[in-house]
Amino acid sequence: DAAINRIAAGEVVERPASAVKELVENALDAGATRIDITYADGGKTLIRVTDNGCGIAPGDLPLALARHATSKIDGSDLLNIHTFGFRGEALPSLGAVGRLTLTSRAPGHDAAEISVAGGQMNAVKPAALNAGTIVTLRDLFYATPARLKFMRTDRAEAQAITDTVKRLAMAEPFVGFTLRDTSGGGEGRVSFRADPETGDLFDALHGRLARILGADFAENALRIDATRDGLQMTGYAALPTYSRGSSVAQYLFVNGRPVRDKMLYGALRVAYHDFLSRDRHPAAALFIDCDPTLVDVNVHPAKSEVRFRDPGLARGLIVSGLRHALAEAGH
Ligand code: ADP
Ligand code: MG
Repeated sequence: DAAINRIAAGEVVERPASAVKELVENALDAGATRIDITYADGGKTLIRVTDNGCGIAPGDLPLALARHATSKIDGSDLLNIHTFGFRGEALPSLGAVGRLTLTSRAPGHDAAEISVAGGQMNAVKPAALNAGTIVTLRDLFYATPARLKFMRTDRAEAQAITDTVKRLAMAEPFVGFTLRDTSGGGEGRVSFRADPETGDLFDALHGRLARILGADFAENALRIDATRDGLQMTGYAALPTYSRGSSVAQYLFVNGRPVRDKMLYGALRVAYHDFLSRDRHPAAALFIDCDPTLVDVNVHPAKSEVRFRDPGLARGLIVSGLRHALAEAGH
């Protein structure tokens, strides 16, 4: 079983940033409004995610680490995934390739913790915690030296963690995030911070984008709000005059999940085709939402690609929605 978990871990967890993504998504699924992420040495020696979500009752702690035990779907509707959860693979996988401690407190219960290292689970014991959950993951891939070799420099892994956290923070503007690098020891250095935004969704998103992409982007961004046959696109896209020399400022989400999908990037490019030269790229943060049965996010746990039932519809929505907004702005 430990071997199966290690194999699965290779699928779910490619690098420290993917562990951070899984843990933050769990915190979001738990309804957290504050999520603090701490890491050291590019996440190789330490990743800790602290949330103020619903917590886990002591009796459920072993279950949270058991393979294919998820509290989120019942197995009958695998396609109908509203939460980020993916078949209960993340925690057992992380516990198979690192030293993981889960400390939690659910309302009406005492705080407790459980730890697992290299797939070996220890007994639940009492712990001290007021509310929420702390997941501490140390020495990622210590149990799989082959994987360890594929890790990049601390700096590169830290950069990937930061990018992952910013993408997640963009999709959840009402949630507060802090990211702290404790490599030097002690309290460490806060490398990213975003307090919970207020107002309606567009206000909140605008504030969050100003925080993450800069005031410049926010001031040059067009509000996007378009619908087509059950597909919805909301967000902000920059005026052509505020374009970039690279495509790094393109953030796309499908049903709240950050995706890097060629088809969607292509549609963005087509929408701006008449207004930008080939070497310029539009900056945008766009959220496509639809009934979960219209999109397959279940292709692979670690992949950020999506498969729409009707790709032409998604493409059409992006192209026409953006062109419409650009036309209204005088283009
Ligand atoms: P999944 O997210 O697919 O359910 P995971 O392995 O990521 O699988 O998590 C297993 C289970 O542990 C979750 O279904 C949930 O019940 C519990 N869990 C994990 N992280 C948290 C958290 N931060 N707060 C509350 N419960 C959590
Ligand atoms: Mg999960």
